[in-house]
Amino acid sequence: MHHQTLIIGAGTAGLLAARVLHEAGARVTVFEKSRGLGGRLATKRVGDAVFDQGAQYFTVKDPRFATWVERWETAGVVARWPDGERMRYVGRPSMTAVAKVLAEGLDVKREHKVTAIGCCGDHWCVDVENHGCLRAERIILTAPVPQAVALLKAGDFALPEALATRLAALTYDPCLALLVTLGGRSRLPAEGVRREAGAIRWAADNQAKGVSPNVAAVTLHLAPDFSAEHYGRTDAEVLELVRAEAEDLIGAPVAGATLHRWKFSHARTTDPEPFIWWPEEQLGFAGDAFGGPRVEGAAVSGLALAECIKAELARGPA
Ligand SMILES: Cc1cc2nc3c(=O)[nH]c(=O)nc-3n(C[C@H](O)[C@H](O)[C@H](O)COP(=O)(O)OP(=O)(O)OC[C@H]3O[C@@H](n4cnc5c(N)ncnc54)[C@H](O)[C@@H]3O)c2cc1C
Repeated sequence: MHHQTLIIGAGTAGLLAARVLHEAGARVTVFEKSRGLGGRLATKRVGDAVFDQGAQYFTVKDPRFATWVERWETAGVVARWPDGERMRYVGRPSMTAVAKVLAEGLDVKREHKVTAIGCCGDHWCVDVENHGCLRAERIILTAPVPQAVALLKAGDFALPEALATRLAALTYDPCLALLVTLGGRSRLPAEGVRREAGAIRWAADNQAKGVSPNVAAVTLHLAPDFSAEHYGRTDAEVLELVRAEAEDLIGAPVAGATLHRWKFSHARTTDPEPFIWWPEEQLGFAGDAFGGPRVEGAAVSGLALAECIKAELARGPA
């Protein structure tokens, strides 16, 4: 199977890049290793409880991103979620709604886990778990950078030293997300709580947010240093470490808990450029490690790389 433009990752950056190139008439395919779309825009259901387990909301400053958010607001897949003076946006009914609407009409292949990317003459050879080796003319990598670099290494593709050093400098914090159900009513404010100290850095009541209509469901994000230290512990062990702090904050006993481990949650060090594009090899990198460690950063990165490739395609072969 031969693909013209292959995008690895159906998160914010990958889907927006795919959308722009698709709308410009390019033949684009997206490979996503998970069953769900959205990457770190993620929603999880546990029984009747529904949780936004990754990004909780997003903010908008860049006019390029604002245009898309306006479209989504008109379509009813995002809503405003103000916090005092600050305007924030959330997906409706949950954060993955944005990814679903972006993927409509695109060729997105889920459960396609890329395991290696190598260069074979004038095209790329892409190994995909359970699907064999596929060819592509152009590759856009939007997986977290350490994972993207590992794919090239597995395909024996050597990056030039300067580029390899630049990419190796991009690091991410882990985040343990504890998804808890309650044996009572939460007293968390509807807009969520961000804290500067303690193991719990963010708490949001998904019922108050409208994500979990029938059941109280609280997302707790644990601090980066705490998450790194306790990353390998079981769900029950992590819950016991934070139970007292959680119940004090929520104002109700924790009835059940599931842990999601985000190995790469927020980019800690980011590249100064919004993306990397290597025209001679037709290889690009985009994502929040380039645009800034949040949904908007990933979006702007994907959009900017797609615009660059679009302009190159419009110019035709050199
Ligand atoms: C716990 C948490 C809380 C956050 N809170 C906020 C917030 O409140 N506001 C905010 O703006 N941002 C927040 N963020 C950050 C925000 O979610 C990210 O910056 C943004 O979603 C990153 O998008 P992306 O497209 O760069 O990467 P991702 O969303 O990670 O997309 C990359 C995709 O690549 C796929 N992939 C990886 N490897 C492969 C492979 N080998 N083959 C195929 N597919 C692959 C992944 O499955 C994933 O879908 C949060 C993140 C986390 C984890």
